[in-house]
Amino acid sequence: MVKKYDYLIIGQGVAGSAMAWKLYFKKKSFIILDSEIKNSASNAALGIYNPITGRRKALTWNVVKLFKNLEDFYKRIEDYIGTKILFKKKIYRLLKDHGDFNDWSVRLSNKKFHSFIKELSNDMVITDKSGYVDVRKYINETRKYFKTRDRYRKYKLNNKDISIVKNKIKLKEFDSKNVIMCLGINQKKIKCFDDLEIKEVSGSSILTESNISMNHILNKKISIINSSKNTFHIGSTYHNGSENTGYNKILDQAENILNKKLKLKEVLFGIRSASKDRRPIVGRHHNISNLFLINGLGSKGVSQSPYSANQLFDYIENNKELDKEINLKRFKT
Ligand SMILES: Cc1cc2nc3c(=O)[nH]c(=O)nc-3n(C[C@H](O)[C@H](O)[C@H](O)COP(=O)(O)OP(=O)(O)OC[C@H]3O[C@@H](n4cnc5c(N)ncnc54)[C@H](O)[C@@H]3O)c2cc1C
Repeated sequence: MVKKYDYLIIGQGVAGSAMAWKLYFKKKSFIILDSEIKNSASNAALGIYNPITGRRKALTWNVVKLFKNLEDFYKRIEDYIGTKILFKKKIYRLLKDHGDFNDWSVRLSNKKFHSFIKELSNDMVITDKSGYVDVRKYINETRKYFKTRDRYRKYKLNNKDISIVKNKIKLKEFDSKNVIMCLGINQKKIKCFDDLEIKEVSGSSILTESNISMNHILNKKISIINSSKNTFHIGSTYHNGSENTGYNKILDQAENILNKKLKLKEVLFGIRSASKDRRPIVGRHHNISNLFLINGLGSKGVSQSPYSANQLFDYIENNKELDKEINLKRFKT
């Protein structure tokens, strides 16, 4: 007999994982399907969440709402999977020059930044309310947890498996009321959302050996995390397109910052899916009533995925309006 589900989640990067946990906490039935591709964005991510971002060092979009329950969300998951994935860390940012110092002085005098800036000196600023999620562990442990509960299956979605009957999507073998696609950049290969306005931003990060112990994230263009006793996770590069432009630049920069030769252990590569306005894309398909998606998480998947999953859940289950800034409808005329 075919098992019935409330939800089918396709894709288990940070988007699909956040959605799965939300549904699990709310006691909905679901199954996750994922093809386990090696170069997913989530697999390469440093996992940093940080309220002050971008070249302009501005407060990140929607910082209050996004950061309100962020750490609690990951901590709650830790209780289920029985392992630590969230690490609260200050960011030590090395300043470039006096101009940089002046810019941070201006920020420090701005009330909105007060709670995020701990200390400013001539060569460094220390910012707070940040940290990182060990994304690979989060994804793997989530997968393991749901696999043992019969809620996960390795499966590659192909267009030929999809049928649309009376404005509803149906997938061969599965009987589900709703389908949520969380396929990252591969979403474009699937016929229902092949016109989604996302673009590829490829990037690499590296794992190196370390014999220095560091209890903060060190940043100067790139970020350096002491992710385990003998390992640094360092990144990232950004490149418009899907090309793998390599990791050498990150290694050189890190060696310069630390004034030390580093031994490379592993190179990670992934393709981010970015929307035009750099906001997540969340919502219902324009004419398939039981099909939804979370996408466009860009370079902020760790902080944006729990918010997006919450919004989508309330939209489907509680008839709440979606935040206009993330609603997928904003791209339709
Ligand atoms: C180098 C690098 C560093 C980054 N650092 C950070 C950071 O510090 N902080 C941060 O917040 N973000 C960071 N990001 C961005 C972050 O990784 C993304 O925002 C996030 O991973 C996107 O998650 P996703 O679930 O939407 O997509 P993905 O991670 O791409 O996941 C999509 C999933 O769908 C599955 N899938 C694909 N096609 C199919 C199919 N046909 N059938 C079934 N399953 C399929 C894949 O196997 C995959 O598991 C970084 C990204 C890169 C590349």
